Amino acid sequence: MNRREILHLNDTQEILDEPTVALFSESLRGPLIQPGDPDYDDARAIYNGMIDKFPAFIVQCADVADVMSCVNFARDNKILTAVRGGGHNGPGLGTCDRGLVIDMSRLNGIRVDPKAQTARVGAGCTWGDVDHATHPYGLAAVSGIMSTTGVAGLTLGGGHGYLTRKYGLSADNLLSADVVLADGSIVTASEDEHADLFWALRGGGGNFGVVTSFEFQLHPVDHVQAGPMLWDNTHAPELMRRYRDFLEDAAEELYAFFTFLQVPDSDPFPQALRLQRMCGLVWCCIGDEEQTRDAIAPLMESLPEPAMDGMQTMSYPAVQSMFDVFYPSGLQWYWKGAFIDELTDAAIAEHMKHGLNVPTPESTMHLYPIDGAVQAKAQDETAFSYRNSRWSQVIVGVTDNPAQNHQMIDWARDYYRAIEPYSAGGTYVNFMMEEGDKRLRASYRDNFDRLVDVKSTYDPGNLFRVNQNIKPRRAGRDGPSSKGRAA
Ligand SMILES: Cc1cc2nc3c(=O)[nH]c(=O)nc-3n(C[C@H](O)[C@H](O)[C@H](O)COP(=O)(O)OP(=O)(O)OC[C@H]3O[C@@H](n4cnc5c(N)ncnc54)[C@H](O)[C@@H]3O)c2cc1C
Repeated sequence: MNRREILHLNDTQEILDEPTVALFSESLRGPLIQPGDPDYDDARAIYNGMIDKFPAFIVQCADVADVMSCVNFARDNKILTAVRGGGHNGPGLGTCDRGLVIDMSRLNGIRVDPKAQTARVGAGCTWGDVDHATHPYGLAAVSGIMSTTGVAGLTLGGGHGYLTRKYGLSADNLLSADVVLADGSIVTASEDEHADLFWALRGGGGNFGVVTSFEFQLHPVDHVQAGPMLWDNTHAPELMRRYRDFLEDAAEELYAFFTFLQVPDSDPFPQALRLQRMCGLVWCCIGDEEQTRDAIAPLMESLPEPAMDGMQTMSYPAVQSMFDVFYPSGLQWYWKGAFIDELTDAAIAEHMKHGLNVPTPESTMHLYPIDGAVQAKAQDETAFSYRNSRWSQVIVGVTDNPAQNHQMIDWARDYYRAIEPYSAGGTYVNFMMEEGDKRLRASYRDNFDRLVDVKSTYDPGNLFRVNQNIKPRRAGRDGPSSKGRAA
């Protein structure tokens, strides 16, 4: 598709005249990339290789002023607009066809305040960038489980990871955010300023504006006890049960997610296990080796010897990048998520029917614990609503071979259908594909109407709609909107 075709096919507007585009380009410090430009294909590529979209404009913003220009240009010319952080979103909501992509990746500066144990993080950073900046101070942020994921999308959806049992969600550690709103203005949202917006940003996704930087609380985490332990699949039901029971009373310093997987065909996995379907736990525990081994002894003594015990002392950045090599950009991804309140024996029986059959070497199922500190906040304290669930589950079909897409998508869907009756109803928005309004509402439950209020206040025209979209109320048709922007 050439530039003219893409511009002409734009659903929301006619071809833009050259002077309008030239004026826009002149207002920017970062590059404006369009179809036909030599770097267009690189610039439009996102992490999920299954998504192949052709934006009309990609702006790699150099600063906040560029973001404001983009927002004004998009709004004034009615251009469909996507905002991209790390580009890891499953359904590819960091890009769009025939519209504008506001690419934040160049806004990747970080300033650590070691005294206050906080960091101001540019919205284009990945978690690897954050680790690199904070680790020299012996500090870490609550992030996810991979270093290549974007800070922005993960945090705005809630964000859970290796430190979550101890320190809560990434969003729980957000102190403030700078946000460019749909009218082109910039505000800081925190508990004290624009508190309604701040509430919504902590779980409500990219619906409310373009976040240009995040201020996070950090924690004194330097080295941890981490790595995978693997068992033969014959032990899977027992492992799942023992893990469930152990975690219920385990100290918040102890974190492990459960996984079904095919063992990667590379180091550090023993030759004899490679490409076998297995089950396992991936640990990340705060404490020294002796303390940790003692603390997990009751679980280990109740189980057969693992076929691989990869738990070792690792730096936090090493833990976060442990899986990066197995999941390079460009693979085909499809996933289904669910919140789980209770892992019943009946649910475990369903897991066995599907989890033992992961269809490709990269596909997997993870049960991420979200108990502990996440439950210290009330359900309505932030937009993230499932604070009484114990796990956030994701069934991930991944392959490097598009010919296997049907196979891995069918597996993920069948697995999800089997688990759904045992789930809490909604799903983590960052583990949704494009699943419709009903599913989105179920994922916010009682917080949904308040999110609609905030959306109606800050983005009444729904400029920011390439996301898990919370639609604003239509004036005069959908009941009262909120009272106007609260400072
Ligand atoms: C390999 C992998 C591992 C993952 N592991 C975890 C995990 O451990 N824990 C977890 O919680 N999640 C995890 N996720 C899910 C992840 O949180 C989502 O995919 C998330 O959307 C990624 O954010 P991003 O910035 O990289 O994505 P993008 O595709 O860039 O953006 C995602 C969404 O956020 C919006 N957005 C991005 N930047 C901004 C901004 N600056 N302002 C406003 N809106 C913005 C976009 O519009 C889009 O809707 C993982 C995903 C992958 C692919």
